[in-house]
Amino acid sequence: MKLNGDCCLKSLVLSGILLAMPIRPVISFPANRAAHFTQLQTNPQVRTALDWFAVHHSWIDDEQARLTEIPAPAFQESERAAAVKVLLSAVGLEVTTDKTGNVIGLLRGTLDKEVVVLSAHLDTVFPAGTEVKVHREKSRMTAPGISDNGAGLAALVAVARAIHEARIQPQRGILFVANVGEEGEGNLRGMRAVVDAYRDRLKAVVVLDGSSVDHVTTKALASRRVEVVITGPGGHSWSDFGVPNPINALVRGSVRFISTRIPSTPRTTFNLGQIEGGTSVNSIPHEARLKVDLRSEKEDELTRLESALRECVAAGVRDELETSRDRSKGKLEWKLDSLGERPGGELAANSALLAALRAADEFVGNQSRVERASTDANIPLSLGIEAIAIGAGGSGGGAHSLQEWYESDGREVGLKRVLLTLLATAGVTAEKTR
Ligand SMILES: [Zn+2]
Repeated sequence: MKLNGDCCLKSLVLSGILLAMPIRPVISFPANRAAHFTQLQTNPQVRTALDWFAVHHSWIDDEQARLTEIPAPAFQESERAAAVKVLLSAVGLEVTTDKTGNVIGLLRGTLDKEVVVLSAHLDTVFPAGTEVKVHREKSRMTAPGISDNGAGLAALVAVARAIHEARIQPQRGILFVANVGEEGEGNLRGMRAVVDAYRDRLKAVVVLDGSSVDHVTTKALASRRVEVVITGPGGHSWSDFGVPNPINALVRGSVRFISTRIPSTPRTTFNLGQIEGGTSVNSIPHEARLKVDLRSEKEDELTRLESALRECVAAGVRDELETSRDRSKGKLEWKLDSLGERPGGELAANSALLAALRAADEFVGNQSRVERASTDANIPLSLGIEAIAIGAGGSGGGAHSLQEWYESDGREVGLKRVLLTLLATAGVTAEKTR
């Protein structure tokens, strides 16, 4: 789904950076985007916020380590959420926790009818009981989740604090969001709830995920995860031979499915990732299960692929029934359940948000490449709302492993990039003359 350029949005963004002008209700529409980014970057309050990061780098490191040491497995993010809530409340935001468990801190703007979201997910892929103690050596920290998404959460609170200390008044309201449910089975439920709640007022979403400054995710990779379950009467391998066998049916269906033709453009993939069933080698199983991951650059291909899977499983079950010698003890039943769905979408190349990111990159002397990935940005992008996902600066590696690490040297570049992108999108009012 492509976004269309929104002239009104761009004009509002640009007018937001007309910093030399006094505050007034009428928005003017500057023609030169570049000139207005320059004005934002040279605004004294914005400079104060930009400088705040280097001075407070050890505070940021410490908060990252502290938050990372609070376990936050899927569906158990509340303790870490409470810690982020304290940090956001301390910088004067109006903070609430929604029903889903998201922490949302509002910085009011002069144009509160519109809001911009800066978000970082709270959850990790690590199960409860995982050792999450952070080992620190100079600016290097090692712990599960330190980068994904300790780095994003640290940037979220640091940017909120820098804006507060510099007394920046945005035009659009800014929502600082620490959301639940990004990883795996969380199925983006946190971001779904935020977008749902603010949809009418939501102008843009900037998602902070992991470290680095080398990429900008503007394309949302659509995926579906499904589980096939086939059940039957079961029995003894010798005495009940001929009774329909769910594993046979699953194998028959799977063999059909893996020869399904898929396009290379749009890139489309499938993976038979997990297969289970049966109780012993000499029993006809009662049940067989298969988990399948489907991905594509185009939503239509996913729909096509999922129906192909259904047809193949149905055919596999039919083949097994037709060839079984004994149907007196019962038939086979099958179903296909959804384990999760991430919608696709794409940010327009000429969007105001991408222009803001590019201007920020230029200011900090950074180059970044456009990427397609599956992130919290999938949700707004799928609805035509401008969104990007970017790293929070510094460097890291070993994501989703117990050896995950983060190196905070150079983090300021990432934080400045985030701050400038956010403020260019929200707009900044000129400082009131005293
Ligand atoms: Zn992440």
